[in-house]
Amino acid sequence: MENIETVWLQVQTKLKEKYDEATYNEHFGSIKGVYKYSNGHLYLIVTNEFSKYRLIKFYQTEMNEILNSLIEEKCIFQFVTEEEVTKYNKEKEENSFTTPNSKEKSVTQRILRPEYTFENFVPGEANREAFTIAVKVANSPTYANPLYIFGDIGLGKTHLMVAIGHAVLKNNVNANVIYTTAQQFVEDYFNSKNKNQKSTDAAERFNQYYRSADLLLVDDIQFLSGKTGSQEEFFKLFEILYENNKQIVITSDRPAEELDNMMPRLKSRFAWGIPVDVRKPNFELRKSILKLKVNYLYNEPEMVPEEVFDFIAENFDQNVRELEGALRRVVAYCVSFSLPFNRENAAIALSSLLKQDKNAPNKQSEKIVNNLKEVTSSYFNINIKDLDSPSRRQDLVYARNIIIYILRTKYNFPLKKIGTHFGGRDHATIAHAINKIEQMLNDENGNTKQDIENILKKLEKKSE
Ligand code: ADP
Ligand code: MG
Repeated sequence: MENIETVWLQVQTKLKEKYDEATYNEHFGSIKGVYKYSNGHLYLIVTNEFSKYRLIKFYQTEMNEILNSLIEEKCIFQFVTEEEVTKYNKEKEENSFTTPNSKEKSVTQRILRPEYTFENFVPGEANREAFTIAVKVANSPTYANPLYIFGDIGLGKTHLMVAIGHAVLKNNVNANVIYTTAQQFVEDYFNSKNKNQKSTDAAERFNQYYRSADLLLVDDIQFLSGKTGSQEEFFKLFEILYENNKQIVITSDRPAEELDNMMPRLKSRFAWGIPVDVRKPNFELRKSILKLKVNYLYNEPEMVPEEVFDFIAENFDQNVRELEGALRRVVAYCVSFSLPFNRENAAIALSSLLKQDKNAPNKQSEKIVNNLKEVTSSYFNINIKDLDSPSRRQDLVYARNIIIYILRTKYNFPLKKIGTHFGGRDHATIAHAINKIEQMLNDENGNTKQDIENILKKLEKKSE
């Protein structure tokens, strides 16, 4: 496996091929070498704050791209100044760290997305408490342990959690920050047990990796539901970290007490610290978020007038990820056709999404849903009328959930719209149904995948 020094040399060679000598020296000359590799971050030492700022602002993305074209693992560059390095009291052996060899390891290291920082997060009424407490936790770990952030999808949970990681590393680059998703944790745990003769090594590496965290960030904990072995393992990890005063941050799509198929002692641990929620942003917050994001997407953000932000914020009120997606579309449309930024052009750019956003059933969606209901009810041998009834009978719930899942994933129906086709069920219920199916799909012994495939096949035949 390659040494980090070698990797850095290769990146330098690529940069030198791309830039002439003068430019190279001006912009990259301030990089003094490699500091260390840690958890998917390759730290470079630079002479001062100014060069660090310039590299982050103008070259980090490009450098990361080069880096990731050279190595198998996902990895990103970070920069530390010489002054910071002195402060951190450089430890010799860290220089000999190698990039991880994916064949040998039983854990998957995940990087902290560079743009998910506190600076890039807009606090507002919907997330103020979550934001404030996240900042507190970052500055004084164990202030709230665990910090449990919950809320609907696309409302900034992962962003806030990762921002804590960045802030902790900013205070101390040697802090061991581990970010993982519950799904990844399950997979890592599974791999650590299934390496036949090498299993003790793998198990040890798994334990060593997770138990060495100073800050453990676990995203989407709801995916642990039903996975008893992983829950057991996570419980052990939690106890060890907690005992050692290490900070744990968890995100979830619902409050701890509402997690299904989760060990009660784990749920009670989640409630030990401070639970905070993120809610849907109001109009003002949506606009502020758009104004912040436009700086990333467009190099002349001042060209985008208030009315365009208004228009987007008025029409996308459920989910910040969708809000951002709408902005991206408008910018791409106006820039590629050299059109002025105004309400009309924004409406054209977003027309397909806006139509979808009209959540009332229409002829076309009616037809899709009816077909799907017909095929699904005959496949499961149930009465089609029962699908619309409020009955919680298990076979009906399963069939309904499958239909909902297909409407979302295959036909891209908005959650609200799906709800209107199911007797006005609210969108949280619909999201829950989708989650359920996703969980079932994770179960390798389950039939869900097969059921969905069969239904889709029947559906295709029907429309032929
Ligand atoms: P979740 O984990 O809750 O599903 P994410 O953290 O992935 O949501 O957020 C989705 C997107 O919305 C990300 O691009 C994130 O940067 C953005 N976002 C959400 N809330 C905010 C906010 N208050 N300020 C800036 N960006 C936000
Ligand atoms: Mg998330």
